[in-house]
Amino acid sequence: MSLLRSAPDMTGGAALAPADVIRSGLCIGCGACVAQCAGETVEMRLDVYGQMKPAGSRAWLNRPTMPLAASCPFSPDAENEDVIADSHFPDACGRDPLIGRYEAAYVGHAEEDAFRARGSSGGLVTWVAVELLRKGLVDGVAHVAPSPGRKAEEPLFAYTISRSVEALRQGAKSRYYPVELSGVLRTIRSVPGRYAVIGIPCFIKAVRLATAQDPVLAERITFTLGLFCGHMKSARMAESFAWQMGAGMEEVTTLDYRVKSPDRPANWYRAQMSLSDGTTRVEDWWHMVDGDWGAGFFQNHACNFCDDVVAETADISFGDAWVEPYSSDGRGTNVVIVRSRKLHEIVSDGIASGRIVLEPVDAGFVAATQAAGVRHRREGLSFRLTWRRAGLMPRKRVQASSAGLSVRRKMIYRMRYGIARWSHRIFLAARLLRRPGLYLAWAKVALSTYHGLAYARGPVGRLVERLGLTGAEDGH
Ligand SMILES: Cc1cc2nc3c(=O)[nH]c(=O)nc-3n(C[C@H](O)[C@H](O)[C@H](O)COP(=O)(O)OP(=O)(O)OC[C@H]3O[C@@H](n4cnc5c(N)ncnc54)[C@H](O)[C@@H]3O)c2cc1C
Repeated sequence: MSLLRSAPDMTGGAALAPADVIRSGLCIGCGACVAQCAGETVEMRLDVYGQMKPAGSRAWLNRPTMPLAASCPFSPDAENEDVIADSHFPDACGRDPLIGRYEAAYVGHAEEDAFRARGSSGGLVTWVAVELLRKGLVDGVAHVAPSPGRKAEEPLFAYTISRSVEALRQGAKSRYYPVELSGVLRTIRSVPGRYAVIGIPCFIKAVRLATAQDPVLAERITFTLGLFCGHMKSARMAESFAWQMGAGMEEVTTLDYRVKSPDRPANWYRAQMSLSDGTTRVEDWWHMVDGDWGAGFFQNHACNFCDDVVAETADISFGDAWVEPYSSDGRGTNVVIVRSRKLHEIVSDGIASGRIVLEPVDAGFVAATQAAGVRHRREGLSFRLTWRRAGLMPRKRVQASSAGLSVRRKMIYRMRYGIARWSHRIFLAARLLRRPGLYLAWAKVALSTYHGLAYARGPVGRLVERLGLTGAEDGH
């Protein structure tokens, strides 16, 4: 299939239609394209695979425009993360190939109140967002919270704008769930005020690209808070978790992807669901057939073509400190990259007053906490770019190359790609046939094959050893 890369315009770029992005598997579902459309009946909806996609008339979907080419975060003609970060943080003293521009980097947690206990990691995202509200620096914060008054088939989580400390604190915790920005961007455009937006890297990039085109958004979005990101999951992961906990999605009222327990390592994720009959179900991710994050179950296809793990365009970004001793500390610990001077002041005040506890670290430390994600997005992306593909060719900061990759490493990247791709389809079939066992049996085999390759375990691991494909590499 050759996709119409629309006719080049006078400036040498090419106009882009939403359908070009969708058909090329590059739509992350951020909703930036929908937010651009005033007066058109377009919206973001969950598709049959439980991923957010723009929905509108065929004419709108196929209409190429220059604004979309410049504002879709996966558009080959949009500015890349380096260019955006350089324009927003020209004075930031640090620059690193893996974490981008930075003013300072830290490891630590929120000490004040119960921010840490109520957050997924060290609670610092909510602490900083609350601080912006308390200091009167913003009037509202766009973040992701449980959908209010949700009916059974509606999304579990959605972007909302919190204007009070309590509402913001209620929305703490990570949601590995498809969400979209169109509603909050429209609200920000129509309701005057100053706003902060919290989001994963491609969403913050979408916000940066939108503000570059829209002076109203540029004036009103005064802070961006980024979350490090491994990849975006579909809504079906929540549904699969429900199946494995013996429930149907229609019974689920709340989902906490990461219930904390101070006596267990932070990286032993445990999910908790409340059901409509008042009962609660709890299960470790590791006991679920698709609970190994690195295997790629339900990953959005566009994430295969992302090279930003740490939200390089955000004023400040936060992740989990996935290195010892922090990963064993069940209370949760953040790594933080500060890029804006104003946020550095806020963070420094917090440290000085003892309300947050942070130790300075270098770029290498931050990158080490995300070693698996970084490898997948740089070395793995470089390899994926060598594959034949149809549609738009993503333009990334790494070059296509498979040089120096072992056979086993290539097989791991191929396997993850396959798991991500097929998990959507097989889950859909199981759902339509009302046969959860179909998906669960496939996922079990897929996971054990992946573990055989990645960790040299089980029969696949023995085969890998016999073929001499093992090395001192770590699977992820
Ligand atoms: C899809 C996804 C993938 C991630 N992958 C990684 C990773 O690979 N490595 C890593 O170190 N960290 C990753 N994170 C970030 C990590 O899960 C924590 O969110 C982060 O460490 C902040 O923890 P905290 O305790 O400071 O945040 P909290 O105090 O719990 O606050 C979290 C804030 O983020 C908002 N929020 C939650 N989910 C979303 C969302 N999907 N989009 C926008 N806002 C949201 C909440 O509303 C809340 O305001 C990921 C997060 C997401 C959503």
